[in-house]
Amino acid sequence: MEWVDPKIHVPDDKIASDRVQWAVNNIPKFCILPWLNLHTTPNGEIKLCCSIQTHNSLVMDMENKVERPFNFGYDDITRIWNSDYMANARDSHRSGLGFFACDECYISEERTAHSPRMGQNESWLLRQEVDQDVQKTMELSTTNSDAARIDSKPISLELRLGNQCNLQCISCWPMSSSLIDDERRDIIANSKHDEDPLATEIIHHQWQREVNDVAGTDLREWFDTDQFYDNIRVIAPSLKRLYTTGGEPTLIKANYKVLQMLLDAGNTGCRIEFTSNMKTWNSAFYDRLEQFDEVEVQMSIDGLDEIGEFLRYPTKMTEFYDNVDRLLRIASEKENWTIKVYTVLQACNYNHLMPLWEYLMNQSHRYGVNINWWPITLYMPKYLSLHSVPKEQRLDYVKTVQDNVKIINDQCDIEYFWISEGTEQAYVESLINHDYDDYLNKKLFSYLDILDKSRGTNGVEMFKDLRGD
Ligand code: SF4
Repeated sequence: MEWVDPKIHVPDDKIASDRVQWAVNNIPKFCILPWLNLHTTPNGEIKLCCSIQTHNSLVMDMENKVERPFNFGYDDITRIWNSDYMANARDSHRSGLGFFACDECYISEERTAHSPRMGQNESWLLRQEVDQDVQKTMELSTTNSDAARIDSKPISLELRLGNQCNLQCISCWPMSSSLIDDERRDIIANSKHDEDPLATEIIHHQWQREVNDVAGTDLREWFDTDQFYDNIRVIAPSLKRLYTTGGEPTLIKANYKVLQMLLDAGNTGCRIEFTSNMKTWNSAFYDRLEQFDEVEVQMSIDGLDEIGEFLRYPTKMTEFYDNVDRLLRIASEKENWTIKVYTVLQACNYNHLMPLWEYLMNQSHRYGVNINWWPITLYMPKYLSLHSVPKEQRLDYVKTVQDNVKIINDQCDIEYFWISEGTEQAYVESLINHDYDDYLNKKLFSYLDILDKSRGTNGVEMFKDLRGD
């Protein structure tokens, strides 16, 4: 059978800077990241980007007899970048049919009309306007040459260096938090298979699998290898974006080393992005950070006061407020620091976000710093998702969201804090587009009960209004 090139061809008459825009506008499901980005999971295995959730979407070494995931700590970055897997990802993104690993984005677009894919395309298109190196790399996505052997290096890197963390957020899991791993091991060891079959399922099936996964993998050594630092060295001079998360990235020493390697390579133009829970302030991290031209701090805040302390256990709001003040004070003196706040939108906070908006609005005005807020709809674990909240409750709350947006926007200066139409839409669509599942509702309360017993909290009482019947 004749081989058919799966790529959609970008018209040759387009000028260079318009070619990627054409691809974004005309190729369904097109994403620029396979030409720019690599992401490491906490054990060093590689994905295309951080939005990919499922384990079967790892970047694989398919050229040897036994297929295995590439690992950033043990494989050469050039080989990973030019692998058959990456070529396949690029061809799929150019085919208009999408790539199997990117389902999270396509689902999110159906439910909320937004996705990381859309956000990434938009932000890199803006970046290419002011950076010719970025433009050159992005144009590779529109040429018809062999996608496997593209003449470039990744210019964007997303690192998750292990699971060292100082929090046990209720939506997190052992692979991303060392403290959750400890807590769940303890609960598994000390809990019997009791009368609540849903608690048994969570503790002795789901959590047992998760702690086994952690025990069976390397979350410490892969980012201390020569190969890891060789890979960083290869891309350090030309990297345009480093995103790091955790665990809590400001605690992880290898992050300081990577920042230092960028500084040593003279690459202060690399945009540094990181997500922090703001529980601690680590000067070794922030001192290096302040030497870069462009920084984006993404604060994870799921709520304030008792809701915030419950969801992001064991956060103390007073420490958190101090660290946010400290950060905004620095940002107010830096021209190119961007402050974002991401909230994991879930069953336990979907109707508690107004105090957070008021706080962010006041802080943004106080420090004269723009703060951009965005809700990330939670999909896993399912019992914490909006599927667990009776649909009438969510639909009733839509009007409150719309009223709250108006109240906030009436008081806000658009330059500082603003709930945009797109943000409101993403929030409202999430409330509307989840079917209610009674089984998940019951499981949510079994989960809250397990946490209450382990942590001495009162989640079952706090969230009693969510009960289905
Ligand atoms: S389509 Fe979505 S999941 Fe796929 S690479 Fe782009 S941002 Fe990541």
